Amino acid sequence: MDERVTEESLEAENRIYARIFDGIMDRRLTPGTKLPERELCELFSASRSLVRRVLQRLAHYHVVELRPNRGAIVATPTPEETRQIFQARRALEGALVRLAAQHATPADIDGLRQQLHVEHEAMHGSDQPAWARLASTFHLRVARLANNAILENYLKEIVSRCSLIVALYEPQGNAACEHDEHAGIVACLERGDGENAARLMEEHLVELERHICLRQPDARPSLKDRLGL
Ligand SMILES: [Zn+2]
Ligand SMILES: [Zn+2]
Repeated sequence: MDERVTEESLEAENRIYARIFDGIMDRRLTPGTKLPERELCELFSASRSLVRRVLQRLAHYHVVELRPNRGAIVATPTPEETRQIFQARRALEGALVRLAAQHATPADIDGLRQQLHVEHEAMHGSDQPAWARLASTFHLRVARLANNAILENYLKEIVSRCSLIVALYEPQGNAACEHDEHAGIVACLERGDGENAARLMEEHLVELERHICLRQPDARPSLKDRLGL
């Protein structure tokens, strides 16, 4: 392929990536949704190679599955994968929150509390999709404070996969308020208490997994609607 990746095409790539990724995180694009290359090219007025790069990036994070000769679909995690992903997430977030307790400054703690506030408003307002994204933002912000880019990147991948699982298995409108559990973790971080922060994080993630139950994906609106175009 001889099409050069210009600054402009990279910008378009990031924009299309974000649009599809947000569609998945906001639960508009549910597992199993087909993402036909040609339709995406038309909807975004983008070239095939650009759309392909976007789909490959999404596949790298396991939120999209690339099937040889049959095109891309939003990934459908199995119950066994779900068990493994949550197990990996607990191990990873335990390590991250211990490190965060060592590094967090008072300004970082303030930032986390502001984040909790925004999250709580969205949770009890009408903006549930925004809340779904904000709830994982809290976890990613804690990860950032650990000062370990490698662990943080692993968490980004796992959180993407967890959001997909929540979209697939959590009954609509059944999301629990995570505010008090998040606030408890922040209080431990403020005291530099990594052990208790890790214990609360573990309990919080067990609870998150417990809320998930097997269900079938809903009936399908069009790809255009799901992309919010
Ligand atoms: Zn949480
Ligand atoms: Zn609440």
